[in-house]
Amino acid sequence: MDCLFCKIITGEIPSTKVYEDDKILAFRDINPQAPTHILVIPKNHIAGVDELNEENSAVVAYIFAKIAQIAKNEGLSDGYRVVSNVGENGGQTVRHLHFHILGGKKLDNQMA
Ligand code: AMP
Ligand code: ZN
Repeated sequence: MDCLFCKIITGEIPSTKVYEDDKILAFRDINPQAPTHILVIPKNHIAGVDELNEENSAVVAYIFAKIAQIAKNEGLSDGYRVVSNVGENGGQTVRHLHFHILGGKKLDNQMA
């Protein structure tokens, strides 16, 4: 499968890793939109939130537990934002489920 983030998981494409275990990988976004901008992805390929179901969604709870840890490790004690863009209208450019962690500054309140 021609998936950029699957290639990051295998190491075929390099990344700056922040956290990794057998289920998930967190790495720094190549085009950061905030002082801290990390992407958290499952190692199993899931295209996006729109492809989640009762069989494959346990990893999302796992990811959110790790996001809390990663954010603490990054010193984001004043808060941060977690975002997942979905599909074309949502602005998703990489069709492998990912959660953005954005922090390190006061983010604007624009949601759409
Ligand atoms: P989205 O637009 O929500 O699909 O997010 C995809 C994100 O992946 C964007 O923020 C990109 O900057 C980021 N990205 C694309 N290629 C790479 C890469 N090789 N390493 C790290 N981040 C990347
Ligand atoms: Zn993938």
